[in-house]
Formats: sequence, structure tokens, C-alpha cells
Amino acid sequence: MTTPVYQNYINGHFLKNQSGETFAVKNPATDDVIYYVEVADAFIQNAAIQSAKQGFAAWSTMSPIERSRILLKAVALLRERNDLLAKIEVLDTGKPWQEAECVDVQTGADVIEYFAGLAPAQVGQQQMVGEDFYYTRKEPLGICAGIGAWNYPLQIACWKSGPALAAGNALIFKPSEETPLGAIKLAEIFTEAGVPAGVFNVVQGAAEVGQWLTQSADIEKVSFTGEVGTGKKVVASAAGSLKDVTMELGGKSPLLVFDDADISQAVSAAMLGNFYTQGEICTNCTRIYVHKNVYQQFIDELKTRTEENIIAGDPLDPNVNFGALISKKHQQLVMSYIEKGISEGATLLTGGKALSPASAPNGYFVAPTVFIDCTDDMTIVKEEIFGPVMSVLTFDDEDDVIHRANDTHLGLAAGVFTKDIKRAHRVIHQLQAGICWINSYGNSPAEMPVGGYKQSGIGRENGIETLDHYTQTKSIYVGMTNIESPF
Ligand code: NDP
Repeated sequence: MTTPVYQNYINGHFLKNQSGETFAVKNPATDDVIYYVEVADAFIQNAAIQSAKQGFAAWSTMSPIERSRILLKAVALLRERNDLLAKIEVLDTGKPWQEAECVDVQTGADVIEYFAGLAPAQVGQQQMVGEDFYYTRKEPLGICAGIGAWNYPLQIACWKSGPALAAGNALIFKPSEETPLGAIKLAEIFTEAGVPAGVFNVVQGAAEVGQWLTQSADIEKVSFTGEVGTGKKVVASAAGSLKDVTMELGGKSPLLVFDDADISQAVSAAMLGNFYTQGEICTNCTRIYVHKNVYQQFIDELKTRTEENIIAGDPLDPNVNFGALISKKHQQLVMSYIEKGISEGATLLTGGKALSPASAPNGYFVAPTVFIDCTDDMTIVKEEIFGPVMSVLTFDDEDDVIHRANDTHLGLAAGVFTKDIKRAHRVIHQLQAGICWINSYGNSPAEMPVGGYKQSGIGRENGIETLDHYTQTKSIYVGMTNIESPF
């Protein structure tokens, strides 16, 4: 059987590039090339802009309710094709089917549905100023760009296209070169649902294609999901044409477990927030601060459950709940952090090695790893690892742990476990993070705005306010009286 080759998706259909350049995509669980993708060369890039201009002209003049109706058809198609799309995500990312089947497509569809519903509800304002008045219109920005990371490829494409399209913009989306297929399938679904050609285009390639999007003067906004370092480059480049930016970047988030917490629940949160999607989640609580009085109980349960309940293996096996990392290179990076943790004096409670499960012997697995005896200055406690590596620290004073939790240039997420309702709110209000959980961790419904404090991001995704990030306000002053002119 020949390996498929996917082209860029421009103006409602696949378009062949002129350079003939392609890249290979591997299944992280098998190390096999599963398909090739054509790189968006200058011809494709130019076509994407022309197509988005035409798409924008058609889409932005439709009424919001018409756009909403079409987007809701796409939502229905996404849900209908859940299993097919979830399988694509499993093969591209190495994450377990168990997760993709119930999370990736559904949380993506939810966000498009949410913004489709909101689109017709967006209103301007009107105010009298003497006998004159002004009114405002919420107008789309024009052509927007989306650049995605590889951990939730389809979900990220949905989270960016949902508000962008609902508000009447055209979008050119670049998925990560590690996981390019989900966005193509979304493009096909949009076309099938009736989204006009050119409204959602998918360009493929690595950093150079992303850089082109950030530089193009025809693009009004870039919504980026990725690493802090890349985000800084994107902002710098976008400044050249004063583009609007949304930045969804990395984190090193704290979870504070007080001594009155339900410890089993706190262990569940810590495991979900470090081992779900084999640790490749931006909001992960990779710094777990446990009160000294419950520390032993916490780590005993954590060790038992990590060693007994996590099943690594072929991600397509529905019993597997722990998949492969995205690439060999990333596996090596995660292993190098583990070595640093050991050399800097942390103690391995469990894990700490690469895995080669019988059902997926060539996959890029790293065992779920827990370090104890950690200190705040260790590299594993300070830097985002983006793999299944948890650092456990202890505390006995509330103010002190808040200070330690905040002592980072990142501020994506944070969590608190306690049964004391006053303490829960008091502490969470002092934590410098954009996405916070009390006695919970990781849930991110479409209704809830998400984004980072400090260097973890700019702007928000999801929630009502995101629609404002994809529109601009036009003020229109209406003269009802004669102009008084000194001339
Ligand atoms: P990267 O920053 O490496 O890449 C993100 C995207 O940017 C990819 O599509 C990449 O292309 C592209 N890119 C790379 N260089 C440039 C550039 N100079 N200009 C424009 N685009 C560029 O992130 P990862 O893909 O490795 O994703 C992991 C990171 O994403 C983690 O730090 C994680 O925390 C963060 N993340 C944040 C989320 C949030 O919502 N806050 C959610 C998910 C992840 P290519 O990969 O094809 O080279």
C-alpha cells in the first residue's frame, strides 16, 4: 500500500505545491512513517492569502445567524465522525484512544458550538451625546492566522477557528508539522458544512511557514499555541505589522495540597495533571506542594496508584491509559530532565526510565515519573518539561507556600486542595495564574476563559471575552444638529 501524501488545503480544496517539497509524519507509538505532507511553498502561501481575501469577503457579509447555522452543521459532522477523528489524533500524537475518544474531538466541537451560539448575540452600543449620538459596530478583523502545537492538534484548530469564524474572519491555520492531519479533516468538514471556500485554509510546514504567517502584512492577527520561547519570536515578528496577538504558552504550574484536603482526590488531581496525555499538557501541575502533615500519606498513595494503575502500551488498545511522547527527540529531552533531577539531588519515587511496552516496542515512551525531596531551585522544578515528570515538594506555612508557588516567570495555571472554603479562595486569589482550580484540576469547558499570567500568555481563549479578541469596534458618530464651524 502506498503511503498517502496530503496537500495544503486552500480555497475549499487541496492544492498541489510547486516546489514538490514534502515532510514525513511518524506514529510516535511505532516509529513508522504514516503519511507525507506537502510544504506550503511561496505559491501556496500566496494562494492562501488570495483565498482568505475572497473567503473573508463572502463570510464577513453573511449575517451572524447564517454563519452560526453553518458552523453548527460543522459541529454535527465533527461529532458524527468522532471515532475517525479520534483515531487520527491517536496515530499522530501517540496519546491513548481512551482519551481521544471522549475528549479531543468533543472539546473541540464544544468550542465551535459555543461560539456559533454567541455570534448572533454580539451587539454594539448606542449612546446619546446631546442631540447627536454615536453607535458602535463589532466588525471582524479580516484574515487571522492560527499556529498550533502538537499535543491537542484538532482541539487547538477548533479552539482557534471557532471564535475566529463565528466573528466573521477568515483563518489560515498552520498545525504543528508533527500532527498535521486533524486540521485538514476539520477543513474538509467546514467545506462540507457550507463554510465558503477560503474562509478556513490549512498551510503545512515547520517554523518557516509559521514565520511567514507572523510577517505577512495581509494578516491582522496571530493566535499562537506553543512554547514561551517561540511565542516571544512570534510577538516580535508580529510587531513588524502591528498584528493583534493571542499567546497560549507554557507553564510550570503549582498544586497546593493542604493538610485538611481529601488526599485521594488530591492524588487523583496530581496524577491527571502530570500523566494525562503522557504529561504533554500545558496546564500540568508539575510542582506539587504537599503539607508536611499529609506528605507521607500523599506519596504512599501516589506511588501505589502510579505503579499499579498506569498502563502504557499501544495507544489504540482501549485498556491503555498512557501513551507515547510525540517524538524520539522529545523523549530524549524528557530523559535529560530526569537525569538532571537525579544529578541535582532529587529522589526518584517511581519511574525515571524510558519504556518499551510489549504492544508498542518502538514507541517513544517515558515511564510516569515522580521525584521527591525536591527543592525550588532544581531545574526540574523550574523549567517546563512537557512530559510525565512530577516534582513533589513540602510546606508547612500558607504564606510561604504562596510565595514559593508564585516565584516563577510563568503563570498559566494553579490549583488548591483544601476543605476550608475560606482558605481555598484566599489562597487561589493570591496565586499568579490565569487558570485556577479548587478541589479539581484540568477541566476546561468552552464557557471558561483560559490563558496565562506573566510569560505564559497574552489574551484568552474560550469564554465570552474571546469573541472580542476576534472583532474590532467601529464607532460611528451621527450628527443630528448643524455643525458649528469657526471657518
Ligand atoms: P513550539 O513553540 O515548538 O511550536 C508551536 C508551533 O509554532 C508549531 O506549529 C511550530 O511549527 C510553530 N513555530 C515554530 N517556530 C516558529 C516561529 N519562529 N514562528 C512561527 N511559528 C513557529 O511548541 P510545541 O509544538 O513544541 O508545543 C509544546 C508547547 O506548547 C509547550 O510549551 C506547551 O506548554 C505549549 N502549549 C500551550 C498551550 C496553552 O494553551 N497555553 C496548549 C498546548 C501547548 P513546527 O512544530 O511545525 O516546527
